[in-house]
Formats: sequence, structure tokens, C-alpha cells
Amino acid sequence: MGRLYIINCGGLNRIYVCGHCHTYLSNSEELRSPDFRGSTGRAILMDRVWNVEYNEVETRTMTTGKHIVRDVLCITCHSKLGWMYEYAFEESQRYKEAKVILECALINEMPGIPDPLDQNKAVEMGEITYESPIYNNNDGKKAS
Ligand SMILES: [Zn+2]
Repeated sequence: MGRLYIINCGGLNRIYVCGHCHTYLSNSEELRSPDFRGSTGRAILMDRVWNVEYNEVETRTMTTGKHIVRDVLCITCHSKLGWMYEYAFEESQRYKEAKVILECALINEMPGIPDPLDQNKAVEMGEITYESPIYNNNDGKKAS
């Protein structure tokens, strides 16, 4: 075995953890699309996921075409969490390559934690001004 290193990249809005053992997986900043389907129902496409291991490659035909994928497992408890796209045969599906699907039924979503270091930095620098957008009416468009 050896020592298990768990990476925690935090997350300002929401974080995603293993549904079994709550090992940190990713955060909502890495969320590419919330509209995917897995074998257990709704699934999300993530740019990056941490603390996972990958099974052998296999070819699967999905509703969006033929793909080469690897199942993604939790590094701590080895539960299946989803899969990673290694290769998409369809040109229109190439954007999914190297990205990870997490099945919502297999993970937990938790509130994120604001980074206190970022706030301190802003206070110390003292020169950061926050401009609120100026709206000329209520249609939500910024005045130019
Ligand atoms: Zn786990």
C-alpha cells in the first residue's frame, strides 16, 4: 500500500465529494455541464476531478456516439463515481475528451467555503475597488 494523499482544492460555491466516504473530488468552478445522463440518472461533466483512480480503457457506444472511456473510482473507498472520456469518435463530441463524468447518485454535493486568505489579501492591498455595473434600465443589460 503506501500513504494515501488526498488533495483538497476547496471551492467557493459548492464542492463535490464521494457519496460513500466523503473524499473530496471537485468543486463547482470545474463544472462544465450539468446536463449529462449516467447509468444511475443525472450526471455532471467536470473539467477536473481529484482523488480518483481510473480503470482500464473500454469502448462504449452511447447515445452521443462511440467513445473510449475509463471508469472513475474513488481513491479512498474504490466506489464507482462515473467515467472519463479518453477519446470521442465523433468530431462534435471531442470537447468531452479528458473530462470526467460524475454521476449525481454516487456523489454528494456540499456548500463551499469562502477562502479567508483571498479576503485578507484584498484588505491588505487596500487599492482594490469594486465597480458595480451601471444599468440604465431594468432589462439587465449594462449601459455603454
Ligand atoms: Zn469514497
